[in-house]
Amino acid sequence: MKERMPLPEISVIVPVYNEAGHIAASLRVIAAAVAAMTARFELIVIDDGSKDGTWEQVAALSHELEQLTIMRLSRNFGKELALCAGLEHAQGQAVILMDGDLQHPPELIPQMIAMWREQKLEVIECVKESRGKESAGKRLGASLFYYVLNGLSGFNLRDASDYKLMDAKVVAAWRSMPERIPFFRGMSAWLGYKRATISFRVPAREEGSSRFGLHNLTKLAVHAIVAFSTIPLRLVSLVGILFLLGSALLGINTLVQKLQGVAVTGFTTVILLLLIIGSFLMISLGIIGEYIAAIYHEVKGRPRYLIAEQHEGAYSSTTGRE
Ligand code: UDP
Ligand code: MG
Repeated sequence: MKERMPLPEISVIVPVYNEAGHIAASLRVIAAAVAAMTARFELIVIDDGSKDGTWEQVAALSHELEQLTIMRLSRNFGKELALCAGLEHAQGQAVILMDGDLQHPPELIPQMIAMWREQKLEVIECVKESRGKESAGKRLGASLFYYVLNGLSGFNLRDASDYKLMDAKVVAAWRSMPERIPFFRGMSAWLGYKRATISFRVPAREEGSSRFGLHNLTKLAVHAIVAFSTIPLRLVSLVGILFLLGSALLGINTLVQKLQGVAVTGFTTVILLLLIIGSFLMISLGIIGEYIAAIYHEVKGRPRYLIAEQHEGAYSSTTGRE
């Protein structure tokens, strides 16, 4: 039997998409920050279907950095699913998730590890204190999104972040959540456990611009709301009831006027009411449709992501995991 390496103390998971320009340098910085705290660590990099030579860069680095385990997904599945791939693979007693563009400052890694070791915390979230250089539209969109989602889901997701440390038992609990379309921040808040937050200022991106466009962000927002709240469905019924009450009042009013012999006019009112009710019905159908689509994706039960290629680092030769 092959001799087993001791399991790593820390696993660091970094999803990357089209980051060829700086990825090798960024990963070196991240590895150095972890190495300052422990020699027993693994760095898991998931290439989320990059088209710009990112894979070649990380593959070259893996010859040099023995702690590096790399996976290439068969296409661009999105950051959430790339994170899933990493989490399912991680073997550390604590797992750190972070972006590969150094917008999640590696200087916080020693602090997180120290808090985990000394205070026995189970989740440590690094929360953006300021959102760095972002357009006013994106800021407004983010505020609106968190306002709506916090209200609907009952979780404070503003304090959740994709830059965090999770203890192995939290990772195990996370693995027991089988959803096909994950919304990572929500799932992490749902899990609970003993947690703390560290706030940080977002530095400028290492290179290029955000890999998330308006389309991706909207898709994420809709998934998040559908996955974490059924209140929109109840709102539909509520508005229906309000309309019913309104029409009853209007009916009574008309009847009274009729009895008093006042002529009923109001062609415009009829058209307006038709339009309002029509649009409300359409919106309701759309909302219900979103939930049905989510159910449809779940029941299809497809794999969440596909790994096209994988190179194991020094620690991954063990199959210590179940
Ligand atoms: N990313 C990814 N798949 C995607 C989009 C982004 O793995 O489809 C990675 C990206 O390479 C980076 C991290 O997710 O390491 C965060 O992306 P980005 O910096 O573009 O997002 P933002 O900083 O705007 O949140
Ligand atoms: Mg970024």
